[in-house]
Amino acid sequence: MSKTHLGHTARKRFGQNFLHDDYVIGKIVAAIGPKSGQNLVEIGPGLGALTDPVCDEVDRLTVIELDRDLAKRLRHHPFNGEKLNVIEQDAMTMDFTALAKEMPDCDGKLRVFGNLPYNISTPLMFHLFDHASSIEDMHFMLQKEVVNRLAAGPGSKSYGRLSVMAQYYCHVIPVLNVPPGAFKPPPKVDSAVVKLVPHSVPPVQVESLSTLERVCAQAFNQRRKTIRNSLKDCLDEEEISALGLDPKCRAETLSLTDFATLANAVSNKEY
Ligand code: SAM
Repeated sequence: MSKTHLGHTARKRFGQNFLHDDYVIGKIVAAIGPKSGQNLVEIGPGLGALTDPVCDEVDRLTVIELDRDLAKRLRHHPFNGEKLNVIEQDAMTMDFTALAKEMPDCDGKLRVFGNLPYNISTPLMFHLFDHASSIEDMHFMLQKEVVNRLAAGPGSKSYGRLSVMAQYYCHVIPVLNVPPGAFKPPPKVDSAVVKLVPHSVPPVQVESLSTLERVCAQAFNQRRKTIRNSLKDCLDEEEISALGLDPKCRAETLSLTDFATLANAVSNKEY
């Protein structure tokens, strides 16, 4: 399969797999439901597969593209400078909270979407979670395996740190599975679209988010170990039992509420 699409040669380092299946594109745009007056932001517009149909529906759209050649091409878009605002930047360094404040409807939150570069999709989502209070919703194309991890609950093989943290910040709704043939060049993996809606009130009370992240990372890094072993440098067996949790259980059996309980116990100890 040719790596050149619409005159642009796909760059692997930027995770470029361009959507070309009109049925899939239509389904994604319908799921986003773009409307005028909203603060829509696309990450990685590329050759405009989603940009063009969304632009047709709205009065403004901001796009963030890292590839200089693609950003230049987008600046020649018929709507550039009118309803299309092209930002040439790494989305990982974008201050989405500041971007929301710069919008004409500065009280409104951002609606973020994109067919994300798969090589940075997980760190990019963690970056976006840091700005969750400025975001109304997100629609992303990701590796199907990553969508499974985002949506997984305790007991599932896919359940891990990403599931716990994503579900702390957002309601996770898988939308659509997408086969490799919908892209040029086709990726080696299956893909899926997911909708993430940041919670207006967190589902659990957590005293320190960095402690929650640390406890999750530690527990899942050694997922075959019991939490008595994986968390031994911050909580002992008695302390875990006193929280009503079984020290011999493994991370994959613990709910978000259990992780919050463990993290709050660690925070209280460290305070
Ligand atoms: N939206 C287009 C589509 O669906 O055909 C392109 C999707 S392609 C999978 C990912 C896009 O993200 C590319 O245009 C790539 O250049 C861009 N990109 C890669 N890394 C980026 C980053 N750190 N910040 C912003 N855009 C990035």
